[in-house]
Amino acid sequence: MIYCDYQATTPLAPEARDAMLRWLDGPEGTGFANPHSPHKLGRQANAAIEVARERVAALLPPGGRVIFTGNACEAINLAMRGSGTGGRVSVSAIEHPAVFDTARALGGEHVLNVSKEGQCNTAQDLPADTRLVAVMAVNNEIGTIQPTIDWHRKAKENNALFLIDAVQAYGKVEITQADMIAISAHKFHGPKGVGALWVRDGIELDPQITGGLQEGERSGTLSPALVAGMGAAAKLAHERMAEDREHVGQLWDCARELFADWTLNGSETARYKGNMNIRRDGLDVARLMSECRGVMFSAGSACASGSGKTSRVLKAIGLSDKQAKSSIRLGWGRYTSIEDIEKAAKAINAAARAQGL
Ligand code: PLP
Repeated sequence: MIYCDYQATTPLAPEARDAMLRWLDGPEGTGFANPHSPHKLGRQANAAIEVARERVAALLPPGGRVIFTGNACEAINLAMRGSGTGGRVSVSAIEHPAVFDTARALGGEHVLNVSKEGQCNTAQDLPADTRLVAVMAVNNEIGTIQPTIDWHRKAKENNALFLIDAVQAYGKVEITQADMIAISAHKFHGPKGVGALWVRDGIELDPQITGGLQEGERSGTLSPALVAGMGAAAKLAHERMAEDREHVGQLWDCARELFADWTLNGSETARYKGNMNIRRDGLDVARLMSECRGVMFSAGSACASGSGKTSRVLKAIGLSDKQAKSSIRLGWGRYTSIEDIEKAAKAINAAARAQGL
């Protein structure tokens, strides 16, 4: 089995798993405590959460606080719905549904165009009544890196808040200044079921779920195991950032050669190199996938695949329905080897050849 679907989720790091076990079992079964209880066991669990908070914050800009959530969708919803009402929300055309559909649900959304390369540049106007701008750091389908520094500046010029969906960027590329930043542990070798919203000091959010407000603006008992796992994964990502980046670059170079006959969707240069979205005209992706069962990869994005709908992101960069439907997405990272890429390419290219391509 070769796993090439790192944008959907990443393998749990052994270090994150170890950090979690303490809070599942713990010495003499003491790991179960409620981290919000004031007694000794509760305080121990709470201390682990605060260590994780610092570890997560270390890869985010200074001057803000980290609110743990259940995932990035929740963090994004808290950011977009909790940061105010009235005014418009401007979002790039290639945002994840967590942002794009929330903007739609809020009503009156303004969509920012992207180039054929998948770049959302700032040479376009924001409506005067924009209250929030959301532009992601790295796109989940085509891997393009967005000019978030420029968008932050532009949002400030328009007196708007700026949100970065950094789910695919955290631990991989530098995350730049914003008012709010959303991340998800399972995209950087942490566990599923925990994410975070970073909020600049001075910004108040309206809670979207009523309850105990354990995280200030977020209600619900935190899981010390999940949060500690996220913290350990963040620490590891920080320590290994340069090494991981170099490794991912080598895998990219190898894959670009092996898939030289395919057309790349998105930018060749302004990109995260752990994502490769490619197409072959006339390719039957469903057939290809059924003939490559040993390779885990995706048709379009994991969220859109299976729905039968054409990827909104691929259409936004100018692909026809046919071209979008003949595209596949491969993703790799820390635990992928060159041999994995070679085997995956061999299987995929053989299956494409069997289609006469
Ligand atoms: N934003 C991006 C760019 C993503 O890739 C994803 C997940 O695929 C999300 C948001 C949602 O993350 P989560 O699964 O933690 O809710």
